[in-house]
Amino acid sequence: MSQTRRLSRSRFILMATLVSGLPTSVVVAGRPADFAVGPVIAAPGEAVSGYLEVPAGSDEGTRIPITVVHGSSAGPVLALVAGTHGYEYPPILALQRVRRDVDPKKLSGTLILVHVANLPSFLGRTIYTSPIDGKNLNRVYPGDPEGTVSERIADVLVRQVIETADYVVDMHGGDGNEALRPYLYMTVTGEPELDERSRQLGLAFGLDTIVVQGDWSEEPSAHIYTEWAALGRGKPAISTETGSLGSTAEPLVSLAERGAWNLLRHLEMIEGEPERASAVVWLTEGQVVRSPAPGMFQPAVEPGYFVERGGLLGTLVDYFGDPIQNITAPFAGVVNYVVSTPPVSEGEPLAMVSKVRPAD
Ligand SMILES: [Zn+2]
Repeated sequence: MSQTRRLSRSRFILMATLVSGLPTSVVVAGRPADFAVGPVIAAPGEAVSGYLEVPAGSDEGTRIPITVVHGSSAGPVLALVAGTHGYEYPPILALQRVRRDVDPKKLSGTLILVHVANLPSFLGRTIYTSPIDGKNLNRVYPGDPEGTVSERIADVLVRQVIETADYVVDMHGGDGNEALRPYLYMTVTGEPELDERSRQLGLAFGLDTIVVQGDWSEEPSAHIYTEWAALGRGKPAISTETGSLGSTAEPLVSLAERGAWNLLRHLEMIEGEPERASAVVWLTEGQVVRSPAPGMFQPAVEPGYFVERGGLLGTLVDYFGDPIQNITAPFAGVVNYVVSTPPVSEGEPLAMVSKVRPAD
């Protein structure tokens, strides 16, 4: 493209931006303009990979590997985020496959793949928290450009990914210590259209178990999760869980990958219908049961088990193997995940139990 045409096109885009208020992707005569996510810029029909830089601050910096797949025709912007927790591998591996197999020329809209949101946790093989600042990336949104590295990662993801996207899916997979059955979270914000669009995302992802979170707060300071940072900005969002105990087993990677393709089909970014679950179990009031003391946990249940109120979830023992306390279910429900490697610190999760929501 000649320099003159490039200039006139960008001038047109500027005018269109002023008129429409769309900052990143503007349709020029039915054809999308280039799409930028930070320094990673893709032309229509192109997939470009690169890094979002998280500069050093009070501690060391990092970077975030992403791919921008910019379709040849107009459509929504979907952001898929993997590696918020660096020990949750199936979504990370699944997004590499999506990058390999998606055809930008046949894509409508734009797909942003965040391959590993939290490289310090990934490379350091840590559960929950960053080895640099000890913080949980999924508890520090919207982040802080002047904060520690996890807060700066969150800030970069909010400004460059979440605010750029129309839909956000944060893809988790049972941390390195969590035996987990696949499920996803959706939040009820009380905003009917937003909630319905998030619900449709959840159904399209194709898992048979959905945990409905009802503890939404309008207060922005409460929007500490990736999902809530998106919802608070009016973007439909869900969090998915497809993984267990740091496994890279094929069925778990396939489940995450299938979910990604299902979302693209649901949003009509590629052809076809999503493979939905034939029936969905709706769960509510998820409660994380936490350890009263440091020690070792011996689970008595597996993920997906139904438990009675007061039913045994497992036993906390000391370092000699002597029992400290039986850990029991707070109510009758389903075990979403249960910690299944020995070490536990005081206050850490041991299991999550949810109530089964009766059919409407
Ligand atoms: Zn996670």
